[in-house]
Amino acid sequence: MQKHSDFVQFTEVTPSAAIDPARHGWRAKCLQRLIRLDLPVPKTVALPCDTVRAIAAGQLPDVDRIASLFGGCLVSIRPSPGEPEWGGPNTVLNVGMNAGKHAEYARDHGLAFADATYLGFVQSYAIHVARLDPDMFVAEPSPEALAAALAAYEAEMDEEFPQSPARQLTEVMRSMARAWEGTTARLLREVKGAPPDAALGLVVQEMAQSFGPALAGAGSIQLVEGVTGAPQVTGRFRGHNPANRKAEETLFLVRDKRGRSLEEAAPKVFAELQDYCRACRTRLREEMLIEFALENGALRVIDAVKVQRSSRAAVRIAVTLAKDEVISRDEAILRVQPQALSELLHYQVDPRAPRDRVTRGIAASPGAASGKLVFSAADAQASAARDERCIMVRRETAPEDIRGMHAAVAVLTERGGITSHAAVIARGLGLPCIVGASDLSIDLREKVVKTRDGRTFREGDVITVDGTSGEVLAGQAEMLEPALDEWFTTLLHWADNVRDIGVRANADTPDDARTARMFEAEGIGLCRTEHMFFDEDRLTVMREMIFADTVKDRKVALDRLLPMQRADFIALFDIMAGLPVCIRLFDPPLHEFLPQDREGMRELAEALDRPLSEVTRRVEALSEFNPMLGLRGVRVGVTVPEIYEMQARAIFEATVEASKRGAAVVPEIMIPLVSAKREVELVKTRVDAVAAAVRTATGAEFTYRLGVMVETPRAALRAGEIAQHAAFLSFGTNDLTQMTYGLSRDDAGRFMGDYVQQGVYPEDPFHVLDEDGVGELLLIGSARGREMRRDVTLSVCGEHGGNPPSIAFCRRSGFDYVSCSPFRVPVARLAAAQFALLDPRDKK
Ligand code: PEP
Ligand code: MG
Repeated sequence: MQKHSDFVQFTEVTPSAAIDPARHGWRAKCLQRLIRLDLPVPKTVALPCDTVRAIAAGQLPDVDRIASLFGGCLVSIRPSPGEPEWGGPNTVLNVGMNAGKHAEYARDHGLAFADATYLGFVQSYAIHVARLDPDMFVAEPSPEALAAALAAYEAEMDEEFPQSPARQLTEVMRSMARAWEGTTARLLREVKGAPPDAALGLVVQEMAQSFGPALAGAGSIQLVEGVTGAPQVTGRFRGHNPANRKAEETLFLVRDKRGRSLEEAAPKVFAELQDYCRACRTRLREEMLIEFALENGALRVIDAVKVQRSSRAAVRIAVTLAKDEVISRDEAILRVQPQALSELLHYQVDPRAPRDRVTRGIAASPGAASGKLVFSAADAQASAARDERCIMVRRETAPEDIRGMHAAVAVLTERGGITSHAAVIARGLGLPCIVGASDLSIDLREKVVKTRDGRTFREGDVITVDGTSGEVLAGQAEMLEPALDEWFTTLLHWADNVRDIGVRANADTPDDARTARMFEAEGIGLCRTEHMFFDEDRLTVMREMIFADTVKDRKVALDRLLPMQRADFIALFDIMAGLPVCIRLFDPPLHEFLPQDREGMRELAEALDRPLSEVTRRVEALSEFNPMLGLRGVRVGVTVPEIYEMQARAIFEATVEASKRGAAVVPEIMIPLVSAKREVELVKTRVDAVAAAVRTATGAEFTYRLGVMVETPRAALRAGEIAQHAAFLSFGTNDLTQMTYGLSRDDAGRFMGDYVQQGVYPEDPFHVLDEDGVGELLLIGSARGREMRRDVTLSVCGEHGGNPPSIAFCRRSGFDYVSCSPFRVPVARLAAAQFALLDPRDKK
């Protein structure tokens, strides 16, 4: 054995011992707290991380002294990393078990108990310490199984199973220390947030044996239920029948009609356990699960860990602890993961239920839904008309699929990334969605979808889309209902009181706006008006407008669209009741409104009363090589000004109308895809003229704010001069990311996985703002904008507005608000509050 090292190698855990969580790990600290609460914790020794590091490097502590501290009792060895989430090597129980102890146990407690204890130890030592094949060590306890396990160990290791407790202790500690240093373990804990140099402490504890003539056994108890967070004594107890050592009996904890319970069998113990849980709750300020053993009728507390909890339980537990004044409100806000909130807004697959996973894609919009497979928007609508829940499967979606998305309960696409059309629309609708499920092969003609491992699903087959995990499941999964309960609402109100950046919603329709209000968004930060033109009755008029040969003909079509748009805006203004509403003028390429297939063109020819050949020619003429960089956004506004004029008129007339019966409306009008100051000047002149005309015609006074969407790199660079004409600058980080990287938002999903895996990008930049590149453009744009116009309002309305790290960036950069899909508003509210609490000096 090598020389002992000089530093303090281990410390007995007593109420006054110097146990430091940073050195000894969370478990050692937690056990000390339990000891300070006078809980009956067996003797425990903590090895700090420097000792464990030394062990991994081959330098051993004084193992004989550690062993002697336990006076010949068996011990357990448990990992004690900095945080419970970081995991660690497996616990090894009953270290010190050997032939002598086996004989002693057989004499005092029966052979069956002795065999079970020894075999259990040999198995775990062989697997976790000697690293032998687990298949060789799986037998149920019996004298033969024990003999076979010892023989197998000897045959594999060329030595007898170690009998010396000190040697066993040494080897267990060494294997745990080395396992922690391994690459796999390191990667696993880094995923859980551990730093690369995270260290491990170890805890050696006298084994509390579950034997004795009185009721004996081991179990766990907690006072809240882990899925809902409701108060409920939960746990298990495996008792040994004193009359028959072989028989094990599982008891309910609480009185139960179905069988014996600990509450009846040992009422005093049961009451004591609840007291312990309550003591942990108030003194450790957390709902804890206590692991205990009943040894000869005496209760021993072996360990305590934070109660495992679902997202909804996490919210309820945090709020309840704060209401009971166990923790502060700020702490409750900090204890809930913002992303976890989005799970509460939707149906979820019950984590306790079985899952038959078919494939996995990108989790694009959270929540889960089950329904029958359909392969087109038309079939989705037909299905909805029959009141059948359906899941729409497409290679990727296009604007014409929107009606299908409205009719479906979930969407699944083979292609696309996190900001592809399907993903953006689904998030807006709160519809579970998986995109980029590239393992699927979809045959739209045959209406079948095949998986890589040969499973086939046909139209009408039921599947479940779990948009939270990205998993597609066969059949109908068991679901948990959304939980917009009092705890959720309370937590978010507390969050609103501390956050210092605004949160608005991207909302295009009255339904979206209602959702935005339900989630208490502070207004609409982006209303994408083009979505309003996809309704069947409007699409035809829209197409007539696009096909118009003369300004006069175009005006005729636009005059028909005007009242529809006006009604859209009145509805939004009414719902938002005086909160700001930012309306983006028409953005997409015109050809997106044209039919894509021959059938559609024939229908259009009929509607327009024109020859099919002419329709085909016009559609071809309007098609572009690169539509996302072509005639779209403000470029349509400059070249076909009547469209923006009609929209401006609709907005102003709706403003007058809505202000008459409700709170005064100050609309915000936003110009998309700007790249030059002159574009803004041209549009502004026309919009101002329309405002003047509406004022004259109606005799009503109103004001409005005109702003610019900064979504081209040039607009960010020229933000100074652009801000001369803009009351606000809203950064459209979807397009800005696309153009900064030169990366198509609709195609990037195909290789984004590879790129992130190989570390080319740290994250999908459409999902998490690229602070280095796109972020620099945001900083340049905002600084130049503010320099020109100190009161210019700054915001982000791309998908990043709902992503916590991106919200932190916006807040640090002095932005006024973020705007995101309605269903991400609660996440943004909580994340923003957490950043304000964690970084209070950074206030604007
Ligand atoms: C953007 O580009 O960031 C944006 C919000 O607009 P859209 O997603 O509609 O292009
Ligand atoms: Mg855009």
